[in-house]
Amino acid sequence: MNDLVNGFGFLKEMEQKTGENIGACYQCYRCTNGCPALPEMDFSPHRLIRYVILGQREKALTSKMIWSCLQCTTCSIRCPNDIDIALVIDTLRKIAVKEGKAKDLDTWTFDRYFLDSVKKHGRLYEMETILRYKLEKKDFFGDTKMGMSMMLKGRMGLLPHNIKDRQGMKALFEKARGE
Ligand code: SF4
Ligand code: SF4
Repeated sequence: MNDLVNGFGFLKEMEQKTGENIGACYQCYRCTNGCPALPEMDFSPHRLIRYVILGQREKALTSKMIWSCLQCTTCSIRCPNDIDIALVIDTLRKIAVKEGKAKDLDTWTFDRYFLDSVKKHGRLYEMETILRYKLEKKDFFGDTKMGMSMMLKGRMGLLPHNIKDRQGMKALFEKARGE
C-alpha cells in the first residue's frame, strides 16, 4: 500500500514540475520507436514514463538513460497524448543533480557551459565552451585531433561571433531561470 501511495506521490511531483499529464501514457511505444539514442540507453523512453507512473523514483533518477538523451524532442512530437517526454527527462536530470544521484555529471557540466556561452554571446562560442569543459575535467589533450580538424574546416573559430542583442538574450535566460 505504501508503495502505491509513494508511486502516486512521484507521479504527482513530476506532473507538477513539468505541467505534463504523464499519467495519460498508454504505453504505445511511439516515443521509443523514434528515439535515436536508444542504443546508448539502459532502458527506453516508454519504460521511463512507466517508472514515473509506478513511482520508481530511484530507478528513474539514477538511470543512465536520462543522460543519454539528446533532447531532440522526437519522442515528445510523436506522443499521441502530447506528453513532453524530453521535458520529463530534463526535469529528472535537474532533480538527480540536486539530490546527488546523477549518473553522468559530464553531460551536465557540458550542458551548463554550453548554455552559459549562449547566454553570454547569443550563440555558442565553441572554443570557450570546450576550454572551460576541458579545464574542469583536467583533460587537456583528449580530442585534440578532432578540435584541429574542426578549426581547419572553419567549424570552430578562435573568436566568438556575438549577436547584436546580447542583453536581450541575457534577459531571456534570466527570465527562464528565474534569476
Ligand atoms: S509515445 Fe506517449 S503514450 Fe506512447 S508510450 Fe510514449 S509517452 Fe506513452
Ligand atoms: S528527446 Fe531524448 S528520449 Fe526523446 S527521442 Fe530524443 S534522444 Fe530519445
